[in-house]
Amino acid sequence: MSSSSSSSAIPALTLISLWLLLPALSQADDTVCIVGAGIGGASVAHFLREYSPSTLNLTIRMFERNGVVGGRMATVNVSGEFFEAGASILHPKNFHAVNYTRLLNLTVNSPSDDSEGFGIWDGEKFIFKTLSVKSKLPFVNRIVSLANSLLLFVRYGYSLVRMDRFVETTVNSFLKYYESLKTRPVFESVDEMLKWAGLHNLTARTLAEELADSGLCPLLIQELVTVITRINYGQNVSMSGLGGAVSLAGSGGGLWSIKGGNWQMASGLIDRSDVALHLHEEIESISSIGDYYELNSTMGNSYTCDVAVVATPLDELNVEFTPSVSIPKRELQHTHATLVRGLLNPVYFGVNSVSELPELVATLEDPDLPFTSISVLKQHAGNDITYKIFSRQPMAEALLDSIFSARTETIRINWAAYPHYTAPEVFAPFILDGQHLYYVNAFENAASTMETSAVAAENVARLILSRYFSGVPVSLDLSSSGSSGGGVHVDL
Ligand SMILES: Cc1cc2nc3c(=O)[nH]c(=O)nc-3n(C[C@H](O)[C@H](O)[C@H](O)COP(=O)(O)OP(=O)(O)OC[C@H]3O[C@@H](n4cnc5c(N)ncnc54)[C@H](O)[C@@H]3O)c2cc1C
Repeated sequence: MSSSSSSSAIPALTLISLWLLLPALSQADDTVCIVGAGIGGASVAHFLREYSPSTLNLTIRMFERNGVVGGRMATVNVSGEFFEAGASILHPKNFHAVNYTRLLNLTVNSPSDDSEGFGIWDGEKFIFKTLSVKSKLPFVNRIVSLANSLLLFVRYGYSLVRMDRFVETTVNSFLKYYESLKTRPVFESVDEMLKWAGLHNLTARTLAEELADSGLCPLLIQELVTVITRINYGQNVSMSGLGGAVSLAGSGGGLWSIKGGNWQMASGLIDRSDVALHLHEEIESISSIGDYYELNSTMGNSYTCDVAVVATPLDELNVEFTPSVSIPKRELQHTHATLVRGLLNPVYFGVNSVSELPELVATLEDPDLPFTSISVLKQHAGNDITYKIFSRQPMAEALLDSIFSARTETIRINWAAYPHYTAPEVFAPFILDGQHLYYVNAFENAASTMETSAVAAENVARLILSRYFSGVPVSLDLSSSGSSGGGVHVDL
């Protein structure tokens, strides 16, 4: 039943013409096993179901080492209230996420306005600060937002427009991944996928190089751009241009999230995709045995799968592959998220009162600065606030004691957060063994977001259907899915 294609990008139309062969090929029950129940694994299951015909007897098993689904989309309980600890924000043009939200009937948190205060702290003082006035009157917030745009323009000038253009061009190229299935190929490698959208060049050079060529002034690159890449990826402007552009896109307007937690996207997709979900079951080995795979878990269980999908970064995992697989060495950037309920100490920041501190304190690239950012998650009362700190190293107790004048709860999470981006990037294969062992997170070296995981997962689902079943049984009637084609051109 299985076959593999030698071309690196499978022409969609040729394969669609093989669609009619499918019913005859799909008498037996085939099992796809997915390792990881984050947005990547959940999206593979979703698109397998959406794109395969009902005549295909497909069993989908999903293994998750944790007791919950969602992976790096996770909320944390601080004094009885839940806050995003990992992936927090979605871009207005994250169309798979937009459609998941609709499909799953999830509620969206309104995009935040940009009247919230933001300041760049150099370790001694704020070198730049926007205005912060929280008003119930929308027009007041609008005026503050305009005044803040003006402040930014005074400091960075026309370079800001060039930065926006750079981001817009990149986002527009990315939109090609939502084009119709009729014209969009199935990609066998990340390189092919990026080249097709015109994004590959951005992975060959650093963000600093790309932005300098786009005419941005050094001050903007050293300050605002650096601050953003530090907050979104814990890295500086020597990261790859594509990762950097995605990071900058995550600082624009209209950002949104899902009320109650972004993890609900994974949970909802898994629920509606008829998945046999094995929670608390860590896969420790994947062996190719003739024309099937054997997956062994730390619980001592063994599973037989026709297709195996790895939907988690392999870099810090000890999964044993037989025969072994080869992927380029990749460092993961660790981000320490520390959530604190309490009150910042104004003295630490060289100001007179907490009210002078912006809602987001960002920092420059300086090894002496002990944190990347501190942001207000919720103001409960004047002197009772929940904050989120991002740092590259754990926040020591003594340090927290000097940054905060009061602390009632402190929660620490050490995330193996995303790849440490370098230029030029080298990509792991989507198809790990040339057969039917797939790796969704190969795409993470391009950029790591909930949406890029969904985009990579959609491609992997199409790869499985086209390669394993000798044709692309991609349903062209996507009206029920709403996850591709015309359904994507919708604003929140
Ligand atoms: C602090 C932080 C902030 C972020 N902010 C944003 C943001 O604002 N917006 C955005 O879009 N993205 C953000 N991201 C990135 C985003 O979270 C990831 O790109 C995305 O969630 C990755 O999803 P995934 O399904 O590919 O991987 P994961 O979410 O990591 O899922 C993999 C799953 O596999 C499981 N697993 C691993 N090994 C095994 C095994 N052997 N057996 C069984 N199960 C296994 C893991 O437990 C995990 O649940 C952020 C990430 C972090 C850490």
